[in-house]
Amino acid sequence: MSADLVVKPMKQSEAGRGLAAVDREAMEELGLENGDYVVIAGKDGRAVARVWPGYPEDTGTGIVRIDGRLRSEAGVGIDDRVELEKADVKPAKAITVALPSNLRIRGNIGGPIRDKLSGQAVTRGQQVPFSFGFGAFSSMGGQQIPMRIADTDPAGTVVVTDSTEVEVSEKPAEQIVGESGDRSGGDGGTPSVTYEDIGGLDDELEQVREMIELPMRHPELFQQLGIEPPKGVLLHGPPGTGKTLIAKAVANEIDAYFTDISGPEIMSKYYGESEEQLREVFEEAEENQPAIVFIDELDSIAPKRGETSGDVERRVVAQLLSMMDGLDERGQVTVIGATNRVDAIDPALRRGGRFDREIEVGVPDKQGRKEIMQVHTRGMPLADDVDLDQYADSTHGFVGADLESLAKEGAMNALRRVRPQLDLESDEIDAEVLDAIEVTEADFKDAMKG
Ligand code: ADP
Repeated sequence: MSADLVVKPMKQSEAGRGLAAVDREAMEELGLENGDYVVIAGKDGRAVARVWPGYPEDTGTGIVRIDGRLRSEAGVGIDDRVELEKADVKPAKAITVALPSNLRIRGNIGGPIRDKLSGQAVTRGQQVPFSFGFGAFSSMGGQQIPMRIADTDPAGTVVVTDSTEVEVSEKPAEQIVGESGDRSGGDGGTPSVTYEDIGGLDDELEQVREMIELPMRHPELFQQLGIEPPKGVLLHGPPGTGKTLIAKAVANEIDAYFTDISGPEIMSKYYGESEEQLREVFEEAEENQPAIVFIDELDSIAPKRGETSGDVERRVVAQLLSMMDGLDERGQVTVIGATNRVDAIDPALRRGGRFDREIEVGVPDKQGRKEIMQVHTRGMPLADDVDLDQYADSTHGFVGADLESLAKEGAMNALRRVRPQLDLESDEIDAEVLDAIEVTEADFKDAMKG
């Protein structure tokens, strides 16, 4: 038996664990229990996930919540329909995992990897995010490390259990080819940020989805209704609140090409090169459409007349306007501009057919701050004494970028503690030391003191 359900995003704290939170009524209809496995079949692929009873508020709504990785594997976006069917997956006797080439580990890392993956369904070629103590070592901060499943025994989709043997492959993850449909991990031009990597901007994301995602995914709908999809959307708000993150996440969710350029970067060019560069960015986008062109610090290209407006600015604005006017009506290239000085922008750019939709991205409230902390500590081995609520409480006025620094600094403090045990001469990291790393309450407290 199978059921038709609608896809929604997962909560930030629950992403990356291979879970599907299924409407409880649908679970009953399908004879599913907590901990069963399901095949999620979408337009363009399939994913296997472990069932979790849906959020109480989802009961009876026909919703299944899965994270960006599973959406990507199933080839679906938010609000798409998927078929769910109970899956018969075998326990894995053994799996081989491949780590990124820049991560060299000495000693046995198999055990900790097994503990992390335990309960997840995996398939050969699949990319699985892996966090562990690595977050502290990589420049990615709390971000997860892309690890790939190089092999499984038996073949097919298998579940990692406490008795699965885990080996690390000689080949690095970059050399393992994923199944088609697996587009996470950035094939050229498409970022890997998902909606679950963004905290506290639910309303803003809803608007972005309506203004950008819907027209790009269903241009025919707009044509039929005779509405022109927006060519440009302006995100405005203080620095570090997630404007760039939103632009990248939309591009990823719709599997669009992403190209970006910043205002100051354009303006620093020699005479005539600014226009040329702008033209190249638009050409690159059109060649790779569907595409998003992201222009950061738009105010520096196109300041209001009167606020300087030299010859160069006038020409660049004219060029930008003509590029936007020249974009195809079908809306397969959308320009997202970002600024923290919305009033300083040339009004000609905010007229119809240009940046005529605006979304304000504000400073997060307490709930937002908590979600952002969850995003940035997701990849960290947190000690039990860490209470993120407390940090959401005491960080009034912090924006996403500040909270990210706080989380990273906490991890750095944990790293400093184990540093004497690390052989920094060697380019390999000791598995035992890695496994023992924990980011504690005291580490965050010190980070708060700055
Ligand atoms: P903006 O474009 O608004 O200046 P960014 O999107 O570049 O800000 O944010 C900078 C960094 O701060 C991001 O890469 C991310 O790590 C963190 N960040 C900012 N806002 C958020 C948010 N709402 N949720 C999670 N992380 C955030």
